[in-house]
Amino acid sequence: MKLLEGKTAIITGASRGIGRGIAQVFAQQGANVAFTYNSSVEASNQLEKELQALGVKAKGYKSNAANFKQALDLVDYVLEEFGTIDILVNNAGITKDNLLMRMSEDDFDRVIEVNLKSVFNMTKAVQTTFLKQRKGSIINMSSVVGVKGNAGQTNYAASKAGIIGFSKSIALELGSRNVRSNVIAPGFIETEMTAKLDENQVKEWRKAIPLRRGGSPEDVANVCLFLASDMSSYVTGQTIHVDGGMLT
Ligand code: NAP
Repeated sequence: MKLLEGKTAIITGASRGIGRGIAQVFAQQGANVAFTYNSSVEASNQLEKELQALGVKAKGYKSNAANFKQALDLVDYVLEEFGTIDILVNNAGITKDNLLMRMSEDDFDRVIEVNLKSVFNMTKAVQTTFLKQRKGSIINMSSVVGVKGNAGQTNYAASKAGIIGFSKSIALELGSRNVRSNVIAPGFIETEMTAKLDENQVKEWRKAIPLRRGGSPEDVANVCLFLASDMSSYVTGQTIHVDGGMLT
């Protein structure tokens, strides 16, 4: 039996990287998938086709996760098109790294808006639907950096730590209505986001990870699948580290 048969998921930022991996795993497990992107129209069209070929309903929406109105509109469109929403994955995220000394106010604000305010926007937007149907699984993508901090990433670390506090609070607010809210904290996952990093630095990191490799989008997607499915029906308010043992 497929774990997400008959369920509908919204995944933000799925045109590439981890979000794309989640969309693929969800569709393989029978979920209908509505996903968003910021500017990658072609990649989105391509993914739409790939998911549809797996026999599920799939549609990509250009929607800026940082914009509250666009989040509300997105949920309306998805409800119209798919009829229901069971799973929300807040995955869209960006980095604008710099030491605090050199970080502009704009780079701080932008990262907080895309990474953290987006989680507020989307959670608000699906809340009524989840409460009415007395079920829903929210999965928020944080990072080891949100747990541990990282020099040169004050904006990113603050946004990712904020996600953990937000998600735990939602677990407390909505638990009585069977709405669950959990966080995934990936370590070093090899995507376009990490392709920007210095290769020598990356080699050092791989050596320092207990499992001796960077993670793949699929590694993260499989944990997402567990949290999205009824296999995790008694799990809420948690942060699951998918980091090859990095923070152990
Ligand atoms: P990525 O390869 O850079 O992909 C980012 C995705 O987010 C793209 O689909 C992008 O769409 C979308 N996006 C960016 N800004 C957006 C916005 N304003 N509205 C809607 N969508 C937007 O990143 P990734 O490595 O897959 O990371 C995915 C998530 O995991 C992020 O939250 C990241 O912080 C987190 N994470 C990643 C790692 C890692 O090692 N890679 C580690 C820990 C946590 P476009 O293609 O249209 O730009």
